[in-house]
Amino acid sequence: MANYEDLGVKRIINAAGTYTKFGGSLIPSEIIEAMEDASHSFVDIDELLQKSGEYIARCLNVEAALVTAGAAAGLTLSAAACIAGSEPKCIKALPNSEGMKNEFIIMRCHRNPYDQALIMAGAKLIEVGNAIETHLYEVEGAINEKTVGIVFFIQSEMLEASLSLKEIITIAQDKNIKVIVDAAGELPPIENLVKFVKMGADIVLFSGGKDIRGPQSSGLMVGKKDIVEICRLHGYPHHAIGRPMKLDKETIMGLVRAIELYLKEDHQQRIKKWEEQVEYLKKGLDNIPYIQVFSGYPTQPLTQPATIPRVYVKFNEKTLGMTKEDIAQKLYEGNPRIATVVEKNYLTLNPHMLASGEEKLVLEKIKEIIKKN
Ligand SMILES: *Cc1c(COP(=O)(O)O)cnc(C)c1O
Repeated sequence: MANYEDLGVKRIINAAGTYTKFGGSLIPSEIIEAMEDASHSFVDIDELLQKSGEYIARCLNVEAALVTAGAAAGLTLSAAACIAGSEPKCIKALPNSEGMKNEFIIMRCHRNPYDQALIMAGAKLIEVGNAIETHLYEVEGAINEKTVGIVFFIQSEMLEASLSLKEIITIAQDKNIKVIVDAAGELPPIENLVKFVKMGADIVLFSGGKDIRGPQSSGLMVGKKDIVEICRLHGYPHHAIGRPMKLDKETIMGLVRAIELYLKEDHQQRIKKWEEQVEYLKKGLDNIPYIQVFSGYPTQPLTQPATIPRVYVKFNEKTLGMTKEDIAQKLYEGNPRIATVVEKNYLTLNPHMLASGEEKLVLEKIKEIIKKN
């Protein structure tokens, strides 16, 4: 059996977070067991998607849920459902949305690399506002007979330029259009799983392979029953826009198990682990010359979630003769690799996906790199 080493693939100590490019998160063995169990039988996939959705909705006490092939796939299905509805002719026509209502309003400060997932279903994004401010009248003014919904990226709500989700939902309900919420990385807190639907959003999307630690290729859609049902019609195994975003039965059952475990987990304990790791790193780095270090929480919609403490490191780059990018690269080139986040002003360490004890290795490695210099 060839493992990562045999293939020449380095393992990563993940001090960056639930990045898809590093594999997202690690799946606990109880979830692998559920996936293994699912692998022994054939099932009707459409039935499995319906029943798993109903089960998850009951567990969360929301109207409806659907397992998707990641949050981004959920965005595509959401756009498709809002644009084409349940009419087979329209479902088949996508991504050509000509002649259908296909406009979504998005605040400029909410644009992000994932909104391409909406466009690929035939959505036309209508931008309002700017980097400094967005006014309610701008959103209202952009709504016309071709508007189907408003897209809201939760991380951007922290920006001064953003209207609140509450304000957006009020306008959308008044104008009878949908609100799609991208909350892919907004866990923890666990309350967020239901918070945005309870506020009145029509569709809310989460990644299954970030904080939930289900299969990395899974996602969770929660929302109102009628529209979630239509999303399912646009997805695999139907011959529709979602057909290439395939979900195996093992992944579906893996996410079901992941959610069961997530709901029972001691989240306070997890926070304690993160705080201890941050404290350890901060103390350790504080003693090194040419380094300034502090801990805090993200204030920019860059790395999610903003609820997990981080260590922000600033190097005296002139004296060291090395930039933070050089140091990050040296960490990443080692074996195992150490993944960190390079932000505009800091090298950032995120304990989210750092196993207990791994913080010691991270500290050692940073010391070593600086000493060698
Ligand atoms: C991770 C992420 C996605 C994509 O989620 P997947 O589950 O990887 O498809 C979409 N939007 C945002 C804001 C994300 O952080």
